Amino acid sequence: EKVDYQEGFITKDHCPLTVPVRLQPLTDTYTVDPKPFARGKFATVRRCRNRETGVDYAAKCIRKRRRAVDVRHEIMHEMFVLKQSEHCPHIIRLHEVYESSTEVIFVLEMAVGGELQRVLEDHEVISEKVATRLMRQILEGVTFLHERNIAHLDIKPQNLLLTSTFPRCDVKLCDFGISRLISKGTEIREILGTPDYVSPEILQYEPISLATDMWSIGVLVYVLLSGHTPFTGETKQETFWNITSGILDFPEELFGGVSNDAKDFIQRLLITEPSERMTVKECLRHSWIRCGGNLENPWSDVVLSSRNAKVSVFSVEVAEEVTCG
Ligand code: ADP
Ligand code: MG
Repeated sequence: EKVDYQEGFITKDHCPLTVPVRLQPLTDTYTVDPKPFARGKFATVRRCRNRETGVDYAAKCIRKRRRAVDVRHEIMHEMFVLKQSEHCPHIIRLHEVYESSTEVIFVLEMAVGGELQRVLEDHEVISEKVATRLMRQILEGVTFLHERNIAHLDIKPQNLLLTSTFPRCDVKLCDFGISRLISKGTEIREILGTPDYVSPEILQYEPISLATDMWSIGVLVYVLLSGHTPFTGETKQETFWNITSGILDFPEELFGGVSNDAKDFIQRLLITEPSERMTVKECLRHSWIRCGGNLENPWSDVVLSSRNAKVSVFSVEVAEEVTCG
């Protein structure tokens, strides 16, 4: 795996915003749980409580050296992206930053509902009504980034956090660890991301763009509505082959109760050629998002609940009447 670390990072030269990096120990101000409640590829995340205010935060602790390489500039990039996004309601808020000799610690707003991934593990699929509401928020978050030429590059249910108990919760984007600033004249080609959600251009070492996120959003919607990833094979190699093959299908046993509008939405994102995919703005204007999945079948929630008993708990909220399209 070849990795270029040169391009696409925000440095303090391009970021007019300043973030104080505190050098005193985190434990001076916060009571920190010794055991992490989550772990990512490079970070451990611990609950911490501000002793003065009693407010809980998530402390994302990131090591400055990985495989003997100093990656502090990457962590500072992630910090600048979070700082730039502080007024977006659909991006997790950065409260404070601490630095020790080995780590940088982001004190983040705590998303008490946990990962969207957990919801998928518990419920398998989500009704179109709930999915469109959450997707609208995710698309708002991505719009904020794309308007600033930032590609997230790791959109997936593990990096989408819920503010309270599903389904009556809001969703926020987190984890800007592999995000990149896409600027004119610089081509970024890297192998990064998560196998099931990675786009064909990344696999083929072609330039990364904002459209790379739109592919992952297509995979995400497919997963939310069917409980299955569209390209996963027996091996990583087979998954990559499936992604680059350009073949997408909606098996009847998974998509029998899903609206054509939802399938159209997915189909307009899972396109090999990046420039042919919908942009985030086009997604927000698509009828599936505008009409909450109820354009053709106002009872789509109910259909889904009979197909899968596990989702019936949140299908009691009967679809509102829609006048749309
Ligand atoms: P990594 O870059 O290592 O993947 P993430 O930022 O994705 O790090 O954090 C890892 C995990 O920690 C997330 O998938 C999530 O479960 C949890 N997490 C991170 N930030 C928060 C937060 N602000 N509130 C609640 N959970 C969080
Ligand atoms: Mg992550």
